[in-house]
Amino acid sequence: MQPLQLDGSEGEGGGQILRTALALSMITGRPFRIERIRARRSKPGLLRQHLTAVQAAAAISGAVVQGAQPGSQTLEFAPGTIRGGDYRFAIGTAGSCTLVLQTVLPALWFADAPASVVVTGGTHNPAAPPADFLIRAWVPILRGMGVDMEVELQRHGFVPAGGGCVRATVRPCHALQPLELTERGALLGCTATAVVAGVAGEVARRELDAVASRLPQAQQQIRQLPANEGPGNVLMLELRHERCSELFTSFGARGLPAENVAARLLKEQHAYARSNAAVGEHLADQLVIPLALAGRGRFTAALLSSHLATNIEVVRRFLDVDMRTRAGERCVIVEAG
Ligand code: AMP
Repeated sequence: MQPLQLDGSEGEGGGQILRTALALSMITGRPFRIERIRARRSKPGLLRQHLTAVQAAAAISGAVVQGAQPGSQTLEFAPGTIRGGDYRFAIGTAGSCTLVLQTVLPALWFADAPASVVVTGGTHNPAAPPADFLIRAWVPILRGMGVDMEVELQRHGFVPAGGGCVRATVRPCHALQPLELTERGALLGCTATAVVAGVAGEVARRELDAVASRLPQAQQQIRQLPANEGPGNVLMLELRHERCSELFTSFGARGLPAENVAARLLKEQHAYARSNAAVGEHLADQLVIPLALAGRGRFTAALLSSHLATNIEVVRRFLDVDMRTRAGERCVIVEAG
């Protein structure tokens, strides 16, 4: 089969083009060649996290790969058969475990046998979904589509130390049910969680107090971790609605007041609350692959991000699916079929 030619600098221009291509290549059996990988990022080419995603995809699909070296901007990937089984992948840095998992899990939904995948590295990284996001927001929507999968956070890992661990277990489902997620429904509850590792507990307290000043109804949790799992501090807000849950994240950093960490989180929550959409910016681009694989359905998103638009473009290259976006009332409608 002729390999699909992809340009990694198009659209959003980051690692997502590669990860989506790996996932869809394994599922469709279509080989691909990608050039200018992450050309629009400050350190272009394959970083440890992307390399681990390529190696993981190659291991579960018996792929033949060329160009899988650190810094490489060109990669050729020709998949074989997707195999279930027990897999372990170590990123070796604080690179995101969840992004590696999101590369291989869709393929394992269609494997010949159940699978367990353990990835070590970062579990709560800026610019990636935290493990809690997968567990609380992404997996429940997929389970509603017939995917039989659990994700478990075994140890936290923050930038720069890493050392975290996430485990996923999957039983093949062979076909996905259409997604119908146009409304979030009534708010059932919300929980603010401040995680601190090797950071004073007072920081967590101040972050939660700042959240409470705007969202007094939010339940509060402090996750005080052993200092050797850090240093790290992340503030998360989970909103549980009738039809789906969302989780917003803000990271603490040296010199950044706890109140500012909370203010960033509340800004995201506010943008979502103002919209009429079921899902926020990040969950939206992570539902493109499942929606495309189901072949039919729709969801509403708070905005048309460049990640969302780019992911749809990559899907169109691999799958014969009519996927489109249109403006709704204070939301964007993403539809397939
Ligand atoms: P890329 O920038 O191409 O590496 O892709 C990053 C991925 O991480 C995209 O799917 C984003 O939606 C996702 N992401 C980034 N930040 C968050 C966040 N705070 N919560 C959930 N997902 C995120």
